Amino acid sequence: MKDILNADLHCHSKVSDGTLEPEALAARASANGVELWALTDHDEIGGQQRALEAARANGLPYLTGTEISVTFAGKVVHIVGLGFDHHDAALAAGLRATRGGRESRAREMAAGLAQAGIKGAFEGALQYVGNTDLISRTHFARFLVDAGHCVDVPEVFRRFLTPGKPGYVEHRWATLKDAVGWITGAQGLAVIAHPARYGFTANEEYALITEFIGHGGRGIEVVTGSHSTTDAVRYAEVALEFDLLASRGSDFHSPDESHTDLGRLDLLPGQLTPVWSQLQARIHWPT
Ligand code: AMP
Ligand code: MN
Ligand code: MN
Ligand code: MN
Repeated sequence: MKDILNADLHCHSKVSDGTLEPEALAARASANGVELWALTDHDEIGGQQRALEAARANGLPYLTGTEISVTFAGKVVHIVGLGFDHHDAALAAGLRATRGGRESRAREMAAGLAQAGIKGAFEGALQYVGNTDLISRTHFARFLVDAGHCVDVPEVFRRFLTPGKPGYVEHRWATLKDAVGWITGAQGLAVIAHPARYGFTANEEYALITEFIGHGGRGIEVVTGSHSTTDAVRYAEVALEFDLLASRGSDFHSPDESHTDLGRLDLLPGQLTPVWSQLQARIHWPT
């Protein structure tokens, strides 16, 4: 088997807050030269069987995936799970519990937006959700853009959906220990998603990484659509320092919103050990 270079192990479908169906993503990944693919919907594995079958139909090796929302040091951290058994009951139950509070949070977000003069945001956002218990800030953002309140999604986040802004509502997500435990308990491998995005102090980041490893986490995203080139260099060093496996993924959500397309990102620096080198037995091969 030739070495895999163009792995894309992070993206979203309509099953969470992406705009394409798993089948369309598989075709797009294949057309863009992806050699190993994972669909990682937020807190949800309901698209995994479809993604696996679509990958097979496109001749694309596949790893199961998800991206779990975690509360850590007062911030939201995302943990990607790869290569797990998508029929695992404990993982499914954990994700179901994590999704639980989204509807009531969304109603509170809509109340905050109403006070800022934006009416009907709950019903508006709901029109964009494929899966009602996954209503997210992204769906509110799409509604606010289409209703003419903002020109694009980043503007909505800046003005309305980030801490201190009228549509932001704190939420308690899964714990780091639980998220890593659900993934590894289902024979998967846990990865810290886009570490540069959290704005942690050096001490907080050290705590995140060491606690993550202590719970059995093994990987970290180095090259992602959510990182600059400088971020990738920095987290390549972090991966080496903590002996973590390196992951790579576009975090693609939508052809209209995402600046990094499936499979169109820099290669992992050569001195790193790719996460997929330890997941060979978990890959679903197309033949
Ligand atoms: P939620 O899980 O409801 O808090 O929504 C989080 C989602 O919002 C993330 O998965 C991203 O897709 C999206 N998001 C977060 N921050 C931003 C931002 N600054 N600009 C655009 N999208 C964002
Ligand atoms: Mn998202
Ligand atoms: Mn994320
Ligand atoms: Mn993501």
